[in-house]
Amino acid sequence: MKNKALFLDRDGIICEALPRGEYLVCWDEFKLMDGVTELFQAAKEKGYKLLVITNQAQIAKGLMKIETLYEVHEKMRELLHGLIDEIYFCPHKEGDGCECRKPKLGLVCRAIEEFDIDPAQSFFVGDSDKDARTGKAMGAKTVFVKNRYNAEELKRCDPDFVCDTLAEMRKLL
Ligand SMILES: [Mg+2]
Ligand SMILES: [Zn+2]
Repeated sequence: MKNKALFLDRDGIICEALPRGEYLVCWDEFKLMDGVTELFQAAKEKGYKLLVITNQAQIAKGLMKIETLYEVHEKMRELLHGLIDEIYFCPHKEGDGCECRKPKLGLVCRAIEEFDIDPAQSFFVGDSDKDARTGKAMGAKTVFVKNRYNAEELKRCDPDFVCDTLAEMRKLL
């Protein structure tokens, strides 16, 4: 039997979203979202893998060194008690023509293969239209978590579920 997973965007789902076009470039700027630890624990208890799928264009833009990104991700894993199974990131920027930047499917295809995932039993949880489009294209259930920056993006996509908080998302599991 294949595994099920929560595919998780990072910024706006695990850590607080920044205004669009601004980037988290060091650990000091990392603020854990309310309810994320509880969501991860509940998902793990129900047998979901936790796979982070994140665009990190600040690397290609020269705003952050890749070593610093790895450090941030190590600290994030520790803060979340080792519950995250894997973190996949795209270091490119819009227009680079890579196959991994969401809504392209490069990262999710790797994750599906490495963890033997059935997308139909899985969720893609994000705070942007790119996340919702990625989730739809891979055949997962899509969850859009609202925040103060993404009202316009919600109009540009058609997620299966729209939540105000991660606590609300937890009830979908
Ligand atoms: Mg995001
Ligand atoms: Zn990429």
